Amino acid sequence: MVHVDEKLEPILAEVLRRNPGEEEFHQAVKEVLESLGRVVAKHPRYANHALIVRLCEPERQIIFRVPWVDDSGQVRINRGFRVQFNSALGPYKGGLRFHPLVNIGIIKFLGFEQTLKNALTCMPIGGGKGGSDFNPRGRSVGEIMRFCQSFMTELHRYLGEDIDVPAGDIGVGGREIGFMFGQYKRLTNRYEAGVLTGKGLVYGGSRARTEATGYGATYFVHSMLATKKQSFDGRRVVVSGSGNVAIHTMEKIAAFGGKVVACSDSNGHVIDEQGINIALVKEIKEDGRERIAEYARLKGARAHYIEGGSIWDVPCDVAMPCAIQNELTGKDARALVRNGVVAVGEGANMPCTPEAVRIFREAGVLFGPGKAANAGGVATSALEMQQNASRDSWTFEQTEARLATIMRNIHDRCAETARDYGAPGDYVLGANIASFVRVAEAMEALGVI
Ligand code: GLU
Repeated sequence: MVHVDEKLEPILAEVLRRNPGEEEFHQAVKEVLESLGRVVAKHPRYANHALIVRLCEPERQIIFRVPWVDDSGQVRINRGFRVQFNSALGPYKGGLRFHPLVNIGIIKFLGFEQTLKNALTCMPIGGGKGGSDFNPRGRSVGEIMRFCQSFMTELHRYLGEDIDVPAGDIGVGGREIGFMFGQYKRLTNRYEAGVLTGKGLVYGGSRARTEATGYGATYFVHSMLATKKQSFDGRRVVVSGSGNVAIHTMEKIAAFGGKVVACSDSNGHVIDEQGINIALVKEIKEDGRERIAEYARLKGARAHYIEGGSIWDVPCDVAMPCAIQNELTGKDARALVRNGVVAVGEGANMPCTPEAVRIFREAGVLFGPGKAANAGGVATSALEMQQNASRDSWTFEQTEARLATIMRNIHDRCAETARDYGAPGDYVLGANIASFVRVAEAMEALGVI
């Protein structure tokens, strides 16, 4: 059940009415409005209907056809999206997702989350998100390239280093960013490095960008644990997913002395009581682009693979969902709490359902919501933009040190805000309020636009 302040009820009703059927978008907006009751009690001017409704209404939504030719010569059609959500704090910034389930509601939820997440970083970036219902699985490199080129042929007219700066997300990694950057460069006849982030190191990428989301999420959980005088050292951890975010989350957990005992993909999960061999996961997923079942096959009796089923039934001290939205349900949360979980950090965007979040908060589990915990990726994208603007390139150590400081600041800002608003330890409230106030202040200052 959602409990929004009565002053905010008509606002929520209007947002739901204007965006019928967009469940994930409704979910993201509801969660934020639930947190804003304390803000409007303290600053009644924020109950100002128009500002919050304006924040929930994307500045611009672009939907386009993406035609391409597959290897057999057949013409294929996908749908492309870019939602330029909010530019009060800087150019639109946020990733592109290529996944068969992508639709406008998913992109709007992601764009809304991104706007607030980017505000929490305190860097000069607005919020946007895009992608396509294109499924990269099983496609040849040639097909991926032609798709990326067709996608960018349409999208390029809406981008620019001071306008809108996409990056990767699910299904879009360094290879796809390279193809899209190449096409953008060809179409515009400009070497505009800052128009995309997540680029390869030889053509304007930033060191530590690939690692940043996972490393950052782990730093965030490390800070949460420290508030209880705890750490990752010797802890059992379960990380869902096995893509870029999951891999680098596992890597950093191991560096902090934690033991990751399970990871997954959309088909099933593997359990390895000796600790997941991260190099092997990298080999399987990044080099071979294979399924995680391969891990158990290669490891023989020392690991086992469970097709279907829930990875959250595996007992652990810390859980880090790093796969996709709504992957961790109320039932999963109850199992985790029963098994004694002490902290949960969202590496993915909105991986826990509202019921799961409620269960964690009620059980007193340290809970780091995605818009705070996974902000390290986009923050390092902003560092990439900074390096591109100054035609500079920083060392890995320098960049990672900046990331660590940014994550600590985000953690502290969420914790302080929660305390100031009478809910110490509630990172959901802290993240929603701190980010909202920052965007709202800028929107107010810029007038009705
Ligand atoms: N897709 C990532 C996110 O959800 C990164 C976006 C970016 O670097 O612009 O935050």
